[in-house]
Amino acid sequence: MLTSSLLQKTKSDKFFLSNKQFFINSIIENIIDIYKPQNIFLPFSGGKDSTVLLHNTIETVLKIKKPPKITIIHCDTLIENPIIERHSYDFLKNLESFFKANNLNFEIVILKPVQTYWHSLIGKGYPLPNTMFRWCQRTLKIKPSEDYMKTVKDNDAVVFVGLRKDESKSRKNDITNNQLDNYQIKRQSKLKYFTPIMDLTETDIWEFLISNKTLWKSSYQNIIDIYKGARGECPLIPEISKKNSGCGSRFGCWMCTLVKKDKSLQNQSLDNEDLLPLINFREWTINFVKDDNNHFKYMRNGKPAKRGCLTFKARKKIFKELKDLEKRTGISVLSNNDLKNIKSQWKADMLFFKSRNII
Ligand code: SF4
Repeated sequence: MLTSSLLQKTKSDKFFLSNKQFFINSIIENIIDIYKPQNIFLPFSGGKDSTVLLHNTIETVLKIKKPPKITIIHCDTLIENPIIERHSYDFLKNLESFFKANNLNFEIVILKPVQTYWHSLIGKGYPLPNTMFRWCQRTLKIKPSEDYMKTVKDNDAVVFVGLRKDESKSRKNDITNNQLDNYQIKRQSKLKYFTPIMDLTETDIWEFLISNKTLWKSSYQNIIDIYKGARGECPLIPEISKKNSGCGSRFGCWMCTLVKKDKSLQNQSLDNEDLLPLINFREWTINFVKDDNNHFKYMRNGKPAKRGCLTFKARKKIFKELKDLEKRTGISVLSNNDLKNIKSQWKADMLFFKSRNII
């Protein structure tokens, strides 16, 4: 196949070593050439890898006579790291203007969870996400993405994902174990997934961002500066193995309790004091839910448990603290939908627990 022969050729080519960008563009060009998609989906997290992939894909698409549609998908958990989220929305705004100026057929899709983090924690009294029960990944990231992908009608659409073997051992295993031909990767989806930048190293990514300008000719300094302090990642694409679907190497959510200390957020707060109340709230919540008295001895389905869901008193206390945080800082955390959903969830749960004589 074209791509593998290109790899053979370029591996022995010194020119290639100093020009990986050319190589990546060739991979993308070949995938488009072979599969002729009418639509290319590009998950965009705002992080460095998806930025590099997005840049190279659009640069390549611009050279094509009849370019396919580009669909950018951004997943907003609604509790994203505020700095990377601000950057992502600014970036997408500029990208939209660029697409319009270049008459490209495009769509920017922002995915948001139907059941938010606050609905789950405060409304339903879920435990804080931990390594054994990562409910947040499913409800906040994977579900919205899967639901959206199910609506995609064009079966010839392809998805380009910015995964790299160099990211971590588990990522390398995931790519290697599921790799098909031509940079295609096996995923539980009717669409074809490709990993054009899988062989790039972290250094390659930085070299690209340092030596290139954005598509609209400003610098990548903002993303470089953001990374000076932090990292974090969450999968947007359906993983074959749930074991591999960990967050932890790119920017995570500010409430993430999968890590003991969110060093990224803490480092960022040195220059952004407005992050401190969020860090403190996260710490307070972790300590608060540690107390067994804040949990029922029953699970949500009424089954007895050593440590069940949060009591209504505990849910209300977290709710109150969060409202206080909003008042103190002017930061809006709970949406109107959250308020409505949390209150109706309390009512429903109370009725259920009463019917089981739990309360
Ligand atoms: S970053 Fe943390 S809180 Fe956010 S979805 Fe991933 S594991 Fe959950």
